[in-house]
Amino acid sequence: IQRTFSIIKPDATKRNLTGAIVAKFEEAGLRVIASKRIQMTLAQAQVFYGVHKDRPFFGELCDFMISEPVVVQVLEGENAIAKNREIMGATNPADAAPGTIRAEFALSVGENSVHGSDAPETAAAEIAYFFSGLELV
Ligand code: ATP
Ligand code: MG
Repeated sequence: IQRTFSIIKPDATKRNLTGAIVAKFEEAGLRVIASKRIQMTLAQAQVFYGVHKDRPFFGELCDFMISEPVVVQVLEGENAIAKNREIMGATNPADAAPGTIRAEFALSVGENSVHGSDAPETAAAEIAYFFSGLELV
């Protein structure tokens, strides 16, 4: 059993798609073991996406992530990291496989509805950045 970190991004919360996205997780066998709606600060977004700080889209990405509240979640299941990446679909919705979250809901490569951790180390760090151990049940 593995855990991964997910964000339902501003484009999705704004369009009231939280439940539809959670349904995709649950249909795939992932269990939501922690969830909260937060308004990210600019500093939080900049640290969270720090790996992209030299990319041309960094400023736009951080501004987007603070444009509306987001829902941060911890998902648990067999191969949760890879499974979540699979049901999210490709970063650019134009390349995302049919039936994936991004194929169905994303608006653009930037406003792409969900984030998911990409490796065990990033999953652990991202979960710890937003949740205390007591919040994971
Ligand atoms: P995430 O890390 O959010 O789960 P990802 O791993 O599929 O997405 P990354 O390459 O890590 O993609 O990019 C992080 C985020 O930066 C993307 O999800 C998207 O919101 C934004 N992004 C990536 N490439 C672009 C781009 N070319 N233009 C605008 N925004 C982009
Ligand atoms: Mg990524």
